[in-house]
Amino acid sequence: MSKIIETNVLIIGSGPAGYTAAIYAARANLQPHLVLGLETGGQLSTTTDVENYPGFADIIQGPWLMEQMKIQAEKVGTVIHNEIIVDVNFQTKPYLATTDSGIQFKSKTIIISTGAQARWLGIDSEEKFKGHGISACATCDGFFFKDKEVVVIGGGNTAVEEALYLTNFASEVTLIHRRDSLRSDKILQNRLLKSPKIKILWNKKVIEFFGSKNPISLEKIILEDTINHKHSELPVSGVFIAIGHNPATSLFVNKLNMDKENYIITKPDSTETSIEGVFAAGDVKDKIYRQAITAAGMGCMAALEAEKYLAELD
Ligand code: NDP
Repeated sequence: MSKIIETNVLIIGSGPAGYTAAIYAARANLQPHLVLGLETGGQLSTTTDVENYPGFADIIQGPWLMEQMKIQAEKVGTVIHNEIIVDVNFQTKPYLATTDSGIQFKSKTIIISTGAQARWLGIDSEEKFKGHGISACATCDGFFFKDKEVVVIGGGNTAVEEALYLTNFASEVTLIHRRDSLRSDKILQNRLLKSPKIKILWNKKVIEFFGSKNPISLEKIILEDTINHKHSELPVSGVFIAIGHNPATSLFVNKLNMDKENYIITKPDSTETSIEGVFAAGDVKDKIYRQAITAAGMGCMAALEAEKYLAELD
């Protein structure tokens, strides 16, 4: 027989949005349950230095921050499950969610905070330099490249915004795109083309990253021309990969309203999804800001909205 757990609030996902929702829901005496998911702690658990999370004047480590959030959530009364949700049913009330080991949650509200994953190029040498010269977030890591030459890869809004942002620190920013035209908004393209610090390399893709081993540090990249396939190299200290994100929403396809890129759509100024009592917070619904602090803020909103919804149910 599978185990059944009845609860007021089920939180799916353990990034800053999920843990913050848990802290607020627990402190509102809602006895929430949180299911950790595949990557405990979310994207921050695989980063290194964090310097922009308010409250810490000295650099902290991403995995440490997430561990602290987990401890805090448990301390105030959240029940944490090291499980993965494999199915949800919003047709019944309470809503149902089933884990990989067969636990069935019956919950009056659900907060979805399953996050998103940055897309990477998938080159072996990319793995070696992640966090040591290769990043997927200029807002998080740009500051570490003061007066250095950096590269941004991609041609969408994120890539162009990141390139512009990086001009605040880097001595030179090179945007590398695999085609000869950008897909980003025209207004951003105009700003990009006008920036004296930004140079664009068209029709190029990165095929290899090289650097020193001790300490691990990126030094150059090898490029291939996508038209004539000629190789070239570029000395560089930092590479920002901005080729899109994949929101972790496969569980909710055809169950919740999503946009064309599969981000969950919530009501204006709210975290409520197309199903009442089901809320979404963090990168799973946000493709613009993608910060730990904005995700945490949305987690707080989701818990407060769940609390209000439950009060109205009663
Ligand atoms: P996009 O999917 O819009 O763009 C991804 C870019 O990366 C494309 O130029 C694509 O090239 C390139 N790319 C994809 N895969 C590879 C690869 N393997 N190698 C090299 N290049 C690759 O992602 P974004 O993150 O830029 O934007 C996602 C969504 O968020 C969009 O809807 C965007 O408008 C929105 N957004 C809005 C912002 C705003 O309004 N301020 C800010 C940021 C994002 P190609 O063009 O050839 O396909």
